Amino acid sequence: MKDIEIPDQLYEQYLSGTGLASYLLYHWIPANADPLGPDNILGFMSGLLTGAGSLFTGRWMVVGKSPLTGGWGDANCGGQLSPEIKHCGYDGIFFKNISPKPVYLYINQQVRELIDASDLWGKDTVETEKTLWERHTYKKNKPQVACIGPAGEKLSLISGVSNDLGRMAARGGLGAVMGSKKLKAIVLSGDQPIIPYDKDEMNRLSKKSSKWILFQPPFVSGPATSYLGALMRVLPTQLAQDGMLYKILLRRWGTVSMNQMSIEMGDSPVKNWMGSSVDWDASKSIGVNPDVFTNAEIVKYHCYSCPLGCGGICKMSGKYKETHKPEYESVICLGALCMNEDADSIFYMNEVLNRAGMDTISAGHALAFAIECYEKGIITDADTGGIKMTWGNTDGIVAMLHKMVDREGFGDVLADGVKVASQKIGKNSKEFAIHAGGQELAAHDGRNDPGFAVHYSLDPTPGRHTIGSQLYYEMYQLWKEIKGLPKAPLLYHKNHKYLADEEKAKIGAACSKYMNVLNAIGACLFGALTGIKRVPFFAWINAATGWNKTPEEYMEIGERIQVLKQAFNVKHGIEPKHNFVTPRALGVPAQTEGANKGRTVLIDKLSSDYWEQFGFDRETGKPKPESIKKFSIDEPLRITD
Ligand code: SF4
Repeated sequence: MKDIEIPDQLYEQYLSGTGLASYLLYHWIPANADPLGPDNILGFMSGLLTGAGSLFTGRWMVVGKSPLTGGWGDANCGGQLSPEIKHCGYDGIFFKNISPKPVYLYINQQVRELIDASDLWGKDTVETEKTLWERHTYKKNKPQVACIGPAGEKLSLISGVSNDLGRMAARGGLGAVMGSKKLKAIVLSGDQPIIPYDKDEMNRLSKKSSKWILFQPPFVSGPATSYLGALMRVLPTQLAQDGMLYKILLRRWGTVSMNQMSIEMGDSPVKNWMGSSVDWDASKSIGVNPDVFTNAEIVKYHCYSCPLGCGGICKMSGKYKETHKPEYESVICLGALCMNEDADSIFYMNEVLNRAGMDTISAGHALAFAIECYEKGIITDADTGGIKMTWGNTDGIVAMLHKMVDREGFGDVLADGVKVASQKIGKNSKEFAIHAGGQELAAHDGRNDPGFAVHYSLDPTPGRHTIGSQLYYEMYQLWKEIKGLPKAPLLYHKNHKYLADEEKAKIGAACSKYMNVLNAIGACLFGALTGIKRVPFFAWINAATGWNKTPEEYMEIGERIQVLKQAFNVKHGIEPKHNFVTPRALGVPAQTEGANKGRTVLIDKLSSDYWEQFGFDRETGKPKPESIKKFSIDEPLRITD
């Protein structure tokens, strides 16, 4: 084990979190390294602002080469882990090579050591964390733990890393990287203070911001949201969304607030991306009603430094008594995507997946894919071991989920995601294996908001909803702080969303740059959606560091990180154009009914325009020599490692 000092200049160029990690891993991981081999490097990063007194800045990031996509991989999660990395005296902790036996890393004020984890191997994430709490709690100081469950141990390419008893940094298959290194957990218990440059200014900014966050009018019932969604579906025009409305919904219900509204307005995928609200009456479906989820909530759950608290702990009957409130993505992927209306089964599968350490988004897609294979006769009872994989058959869906988690029978075929499964199954099943560059799409439909399709297809970690969209851009309101960015019109015709023009390219690039800054400082997307004037991340960075950078300079840092991550992918043999979303989810062919009827995303034009914004080749997406030079990407590593 060794410590590496990072020069201040690198913090100024990459901040911390995924920004700094992208710089280090670009240099450290050799081209063509096997993601599950000794040369891959797995990192756990805190954010630049974590612990400095700002709001919404307690997220931690896991980073490495993704075994799911073969390119840059990062996933982030809230909870309480991120400040503990800093209390231990670090901004990031990295692992390389492979341990001959299972281990966990333990750091406290006196020691840092790798401890035999043979007795923990095979335990689920909740059991593991509770065991490690018991073992390492001193004088009521409970350590913070990040760990994998059996899915990561079994190298499932859709496995993630858990903390806080089942909150998941789920995407990109980085749980399998941890499993490949035989690293079961990290256990952190530090006491080093985190001191911002200007504490008074941090407090002033946070106090002002929290007034916005805590404003909360009384609210209507869950099903009413579906009527709002239906209205948005039928109107030819759209109002620019102010993030305060979403903030209010989040505080009331959490992310499940969007379930019914999103299905109605064409944002949620239904029936493996071939259905719509015509197939699924959101207003009547108990399986997705937000009230069902909040009625089961025992207590609200807040991540570190978050006054909003969109999470919750829910009670449930049966084998498990409690689970984290399922997120919107989980409900849609385990519900509408599979036509499963049974809310109890969604609570249950959410907990099974969290304990296994498997991504609910990817798992839901794998189940929906298996159903379509079965319904089309591509697979039969002989393949599934007699499990009837039909639309909406809850028993079959749950039974197959268990097989997937255990890597048994046909579940083993599904456990590495839909791209790998379709390669094994063949028979044109790739046409309905819905992914981008190997990663299953999140539950926001690019046919409703082409911005999602752009970021699913073009981000160096494809398939994620947490980068940007036209809707996010409206809510970020970046034009209020950053010169030269287009202002979202208050009212616009919906057809405007489908034009591929320079404005869309600027919007897409701005979302990517801003998200790179957010992931470098440990910020939560939901905080950012409240709007830059209400949640002032740039001002917080200046107050925490003593820098005096402009918003434009921070966006340039975001651009530098994007170029580096793209260069990482090219270095590792990824052709950016090959990450495009499966045609069905781009509206090829276009749907014939529902909210997205007749819509096709013009992905070729949108991607060329977007790449142009970053100085990437318009045809291939590869960074041009000028953009590599501009950001000194190919200079030798500027630290002694
Ligand atoms: S808004 Fe939700 S996810 Fe974001 S920091 Fe707060 S509790 Fe965590």
